[in-house]
Amino acid sequence: MDVKIIKNLVLTIVLMVSFNSIAQKRDKPKLIIGLVVDQMRAEYLYRFQDNYGENGFRRLIKEGFNVKNIHYNYIPTATGPGHASIFSGTTPEHHGIVGNDWYDRRLKRAVYCAEDTTAYLINNDNIISSEINKYSRSPKNLLTTNIADELKLFTNGRSKVIGLSLKDRGAIFPSGHMADYAFWYNTETGDFITSSYYDSKLPDWLIKFNNQKQADKLLNQTWDTYFPIERYINSTLDNATFEHHFNGKQAPTFPYHLKELRKYNGNFTLLTQVPQGNTLLTSMAIAAIKGEKLGHGNDVDFLTISYSSTDYIGHNFGIRSKELEDTYVRLDRELEKLLNYLDTTLGENNFLLFLTADHAASDNPVFLKQSNLSGQFYDPQKIALDLNSYLSKEFGTKNYISFFDKTQIYISDSFRTNQSILEASLLFLQTQVKGIKNVYIPNLRSNVLMNSDIGQVFMNSYNPLNSGDILLNFYSGWMEQRAFGTNHGTAYNSDTNVPLLWYGYGIPKGETVKLYTIDQIASTVSFLVGIPLPNSAKSKPITELFED
Ligand code: ZN
Ligand code: ZN
Repeated sequence: MDVKIIKNLVLTIVLMVSFNSIAQKRDKPKLIIGLVVDQMRAEYLYRFQDNYGENGFRRLIKEGFNVKNIHYNYIPTATGPGHASIFSGTTPEHHGIVGNDWYDRRLKRAVYCAEDTTAYLINNDNIISSEINKYSRSPKNLLTTNIADELKLFTNGRSKVIGLSLKDRGAIFPSGHMADYAFWYNTETGDFITSSYYDSKLPDWLIKFNNQKQADKLLNQTWDTYFPIERYINSTLDNATFEHHFNGKQAPTFPYHLKELRKYNGNFTLLTQVPQGNTLLTSMAIAAIKGEKLGHGNDVDFLTISYSSTDYIGHNFGIRSKELEDTYVRLDRELEKLLNYLDTTLGENNFLLFLTADHAASDNPVFLKQSNLSGQFYDPQKIALDLNSYLSKEFGTKNYISFFDKTQIYISDSFRTNQSILEASLLFLQTQVKGIKNVYIPNLRSNVLMNSDIGQVFMNSYNPLNSGDILLNFYSGWMEQRAFGTNHGTAYNSDTNVPLLWYGYGIPKGETVKLYTIDQIASTVSFLVGIPLPNSAKSKPITELFED
């Protein structure tokens, strides 16, 4: 061989090697997993860490990328809007999911965010629910594409997309309009179900899964602490004054004998309110990966998993309860189980996972007061009634308000653009109602949006089709009246700062404290996987993930 031929040969080999590495780099993960923990505060990663194992949250933090300072940027910080925002990469302003419920001015009634009166519920026997209006579900209220839709479009439908959660909205909004299936938990039967929007029957693997009656078995267990309770040093007393008491139980303390308690607490409903609900969802996720052969095709598949029990337990017992600490210690083991399964079935670096939350949660005002912090309850109904009385006094007795919730007031159709009435409403709410810090009335010409953080929050929250005519922001520590536990919904850090962990395919090790907002997750997935941006997504990915 002469030198020239050898040179060419070497060059060819070099080129082949480098083409190969380019090809490998351009390759995609087999499966994307979008994991949502309902009501998880970012600080739970750290406050409860002493009782976490090495292979759950810690593995994601150590071997992945931790975005420590990501926030929601609209109100209300609630489940429907949260799940919609993460995966569509935008806020209620564009995706339209302005709350878990809102007032539909055309139908003249409150609507549920995932309701669809043209769809039916599908269970094991493929039976259509008779209570159509109450239970029918689909993503039709989501007004933008999301990241799963874009994946479906990009691969011409070949990618499989599955959404899972105990809550319907936690399964439906993440998996988008074009999902193969969204499955959620039926609190009446303990089975996972879907909607006729996706298919007219359940897949065989799910019928088999349901027939194992895992929910029933889990509800015959006892919920005691995973570790001796003395190890839970970062939560308050097991018996705090404002905790929820399950029916049939004297005190809100461990252990909880589920077999007994299910009789008085809605039977299968109880599963959503104990950590065993998360255990069921992990089993379901593994069954779905197997059953749908996720990650085994030629195209990227997408699985969304939203753990819901964390939210119910937070609402019932508050964010500093022993029950909540134990729930996260147990969720850490669920994560370990899921990650181990993904390792063995797909291979360690063949999946891309991100973990975040649909909102965080605030302290109960009773606890705040006990701790000498500022906090108070308000009564939204009283505010609406008082406003109506005030307007009646000024303009004559009428029904000025058609609907209200915690932070939104819907003015009756005939007065919605009446400047005098809107002006009077603004004056009343800003000067006569304790607790209200900012009022935004988009139809009031003189109510110029303040050029400030809260101005931007209002703008991100307001969707002309679905939002109320008056949006309210209360002072920090204010929460609508409730008998026990706690809530979320505000634009304060306690409700907005959620975890965001990236792990797996193409993810560098690292962490950042740079400020990011929740609408930046979807575009990051787009660029990591090489698919188009959802059509209203904020096109500002988390660029630190792309730096070497
Ligand atoms: Zn939630
Ligand atoms: Zn909640």
